[in-house]
Amino acid sequence: TTTAVTEYETIQVLGHGNGGTVYKAIHKKTSNVYALKVVQADSDPMMRRQIFREMEILRRTDSPFVVKCHDIFEKPDGDVAILMEYMDAGTLDLVSKTGDVFTERTLADIARQILNGLNYLHAHKIVHRDIKPANLLVNKKMEVKIADFGVSKIMCRTLDACDSYVGTCAYMSPERFDPDSYGANYDGYSGDIWSLGLTMLELYVGHFPLLSAGQKPDWATLMCAICFGEPPSLPEGVLEEFKSFIECCLQKDSGKRWTASQLLSHPFCRQMEKEL
Ligand code: ADP
Repeated sequence: TTTAVTEYETIQVLGHGNGGTVYKAIHKKTSNVYALKVVQADSDPMMRRQIFREMEILRRTDSPFVVKCHDIFEKPDGDVAILMEYMDAGTLDLVSKTGDVFTERTLADIARQILNGLNYLHAHKIVHRDIKPANLLVNKKMEVKIADFGVSKIMCRTLDACDSYVGTCAYMSPERFDPDSYGANYDGYSGDIWSLGLTMLELYVGHFPLLSAGQKPDWATLMCAICFGEPPSLPEGVLEEFKSFIECCLQKDSGKRWTASQLLSHPFCRQMEKEL
């Protein structure tokens, strides 16, 4: 059954994104809590394009590892709102900024959930293209879900000759900058795996791994680090399984990177599963 947007009361701003404003909202009749993402009709065309892309993808997805969309409201005047499940612990970005460090065991659990999400998306021919801590939502049960499909892409048969520069540069894979050197057999999906590798590394070391702590990012430094540097890796002393997992994600040659489904069987994910 569909509801009307007037049945919800917005009680708090959760955040502003390039896609609009996200509110915490309550369904007045049931008191259930949701997140409501709103984009005004008069907002800039880029914003509107992003929310329509996101709506298209959320309509097609139904997975416990992808943020759930309950309803979409489109007013005749052009305002758009997406009613989503509320994730009460925010994003992995915020969680990591509170200074909490994640244990390898927690990280394995986080990795497994993101990989289940990516495996689902890739099987449905969806490339996220902007995997990073700020786009991964968490709740107090430590469930992790993939969100923000503003720049995602539904794959047709093959990839465009040159994938456009979308997403957050810092987390973009080498083949996105330089397809001739690193893009053998590039299928688009492996870019998400690179971004996952960087994300996991960041959650462990506590800062974006291609820059030193506190270093200001600029486009040229990042591109050089991504394309000409060795892929970043974990410090000595961490679990061998974790080190190997990161290496499987951060192969510069996209053809050598493991797929989401292969990574789900990686000892790092498997071993932790046994212990739970
Ligand atoms: P972005 O900033 O990447 O464009 P969004 O516009 O989707 O991201 O969201 C902006 C902020 O709103 C997020 O960083 C997050 O803090 C919050 N948010 C988004 N969706 C939800 C949700 N379903 N539950 C809780 N908080 C959310």
